[in-house]
Amino acid sequence: MDIEILERSEHKLSFIVEDISVEMANAIRRIIISEIPVMAIDEVIVLKNDSPLYDEIIAHRLGMIPLTTDLEAYKLPRDCSCGGFGCALCQVSLTCEVTNTTNTTLEVYSGDLKSNDPQIVPVNSEIPIVKIGKNNQLIVEAYAILGKSKDHVKWQAVSNIFYRFFPEIEFDDEQCKKCSDKCVVSRMCPEKLYDFSAGKMPKLLEDYWKTCTLCKSCERDCPEKAIKVGNRDNTYIFSLESDGVLPFATVLEMAFTIFLEKIDEFVERLDALELES
Ligand SMILES: [Zn+2]
Repeated sequence: MDIEILERSEHKLSFIVEDISVEMANAIRRIIISEIPVMAIDEVIVLKNDSPLYDEIIAHRLGMIPLTTDLEAYKLPRDCSCGGFGCALCQVSLTCEVTNTTNTTLEVYSGDLKSNDPQIVPVNSEIPIVKIGKNNQLIVEAYAILGKSKDHVKWQAVSNIFYRFFPEIEFDDEQCKKCSDKCVVSRMCPEKLYDFSAGKMPKLLEDYWKTCTLCKSCERDCPEKAIKVGNRDNTYIFSLESDGVLPFATVLEMAFTIFLEKIDEFVERLDALELES
């Protein structure tokens, strides 16, 4: 397997993977989107709520706030020695106590949540939760646990992940009749991947594969059939977006760890079946 990073920032990662099957690419995507545990608020005790919103709506909003996650320090409640009851190894407490002493309405933000572990805090302190009026109060106690997104989307480790086939376009110079301004290719390509500035023959941009969506409109619309759109075998461009709950390196590392665990479990079950028969 060969990997080449195309773009890497705090919230976005894209890379090319070569020499893997489409089944493997899809397995990686599915594990990343649904199997990597991250922290999210799962239980809320509302002690005082003077806001116009119901307790349930505030609890739901708190659950959807992305929290930074430390996978070394915490266990999934079902794997914890406390049996899922809730202890310092599987649960983090966050409290929010806001009193509006101003003369106008006051917005309560995710930054008002005080965590008992500085490693587990909202990724952004400016996520609005609710507005409260003059002299009103919001007091809540919330408990965050590790969970997986196959149980609830609030535990999703990435905001988005997708892969696409690596585009390969073949342009036949001899077949092209240099239709120039009549050339439909220039008008039809939604990504504007053809350049006409150098002459009458359209020139394919060198990095066309970065934006080509394989829509095939050029292949379909060229009257001379001079263009062939295809994709490179076993090569995929992955794109990931993150809200910051886990670094990308941890996400990828965890994806392969979980993949290997699943293979081991599969082999174990297969062995057990063979013994039975
Ligand atoms: Zn525990």
